[in-house]
Amino acid sequence: MAYKVTLIPGDGTGPEIAEATRKCIDATGVKIDWDVQECGIEVIEAEGSIPDRVFKSIKANKVAIKGPITTPIGKGFRSVNVHLRQELGLYACVRPCKQYKGVRTFYENSKVDLVLVRENTEDLYAGVEFKAGEPKTADLINFINGIATGKKINTGLATTGVSIKPMSYEGTRDIAKYAFDYAIANKRSTISSVCKANIMKFTDGLWYDETRAVAVAYKAKFEQPELAQGVTADPALAGKAGDASGIIYTERLIDNMCMQLVQKPELYDVIVTSNLYGDILSDLCAGLVGGLGVAPGSNIGTEAAIFEATHGSAPKYKGQNKVNPTALILSGKMMLDYIGEHDAANRLDAAVAAVIAEGKDVTYDMKPDRNDPTAVGTQEMAAAICAKLKKI
Ligand code: NAD
Repeated sequence: MAYKVTLIPGDGTGPEIAEATRKCIDATGVKIDWDVQECGIEVIEAEGSIPDRVFKSIKANKVAIKGPITTPIGKGFRSVNVHLRQELGLYACVRPCKQYKGVRTFYENSKVDLVLVRENTEDLYAGVEFKAGEPKTADLINFINGIATGKKINTGLATTGVSIKPMSYEGTRDIAKYAFDYAIANKRSTISSVCKANIMKFTDGLWYDETRAVAVAYKAKFEQPELAQGVTADPALAGKAGDASGIIYTERLIDNMCMQLVQKPELYDVIVTSNLYGDILSDLCAGLVGGLGVAPGSNIGTEAAIFEATHGSAPKYKGQNKVNPTALILSGKMMLDYIGEHDAANRLDAAVAAVIAEGKDVTYDMKPDRNDPTAVGTQEMAAAICAKLKKI
């Protein structure tokens, strides 16, 4: 029986890469009944928000592949991507960053193969924001200044905007548990927990408290054993924690992590972090392995999962059959793994790797010179991957 999968082409260059991805997934031989749902910027602008049919489709099918969707900066509707993640409870964003032979990077002599696990629903991205000049913002500032904490917002009442950073033990536990389960299932050796607890003690401090308690519940080895002293296993995980006794738990502050990743990325394996740091680190990690063109991703919840590239809609290339479809195709590979089609996922990965390694049928961004006239288009690269799949 065919799997039913929602396909959201998105906007900008989204429809082109979505089409390329669909062809490559179909070429694996896995039978998919695609439920195409238009939800690009034009649809959102016309309907005011994400149409109900899109949520219904994803909730019914439980799996979706999505092209990028444009979000206007600083105005208009809220990010469709954030809205989808929050509405569907897609709490885990998983972004593997692996080096493929033939992709030019600054790190050709080091083996980068890391996975970023980002909390997807809380933190500064929760969307709890107060605009400078609005009465409710002044009310909030007055309220904060009136509480006897000794802390005051001293900037102008009418000229200060405020964004709220909510982080919970439950949300941190869920994402840390996801990272440990992922590391065990994928035979990974290290989990690095990343935040800025030295400055934000009640949010990022909570993050470390909870990731340590989860690490203890999973029996992980602490790189710095003193961090485990006095930490008890998270009681909410009793009977639910796997055995991570072969996995090392490390901690890094976000600023140090950025430098470490640039200097010695091969030392890192699974990185678990909160929403904002995860967003920034995922682009940094994509840069380590050759850029956004090759960076896949997924947003996973208990009831549904959406697979999408890390990159955006690259609107300046819209309709030109020019951009690299690899990131969304590799997101499709993750989708195949998610539905249990591991053999098809591995063959798709091998076909992508072979086409990239040959370097012939690849898009402009994968050629040594971006103006190389031998670069092929989005659909031609997908066709080359489909042709390779027939031989694997
Ligand atoms: P972008 O990722 O769309 O593009 C930045 C640059 O990266 C492009 O100009 C292009 O040079 C390169 N690039 C991106 N994808 C590529 C590909 N597949 N092949 C080759 N080169 C590629 O980032 P942006 O310009 O900051 O964002 C454009 C829009 O996309 C914004 O509205 C943003 O909000 C949205 N966005 C959506 C998502 C999503 O849907 N998940 C993610 C990120 C950004």
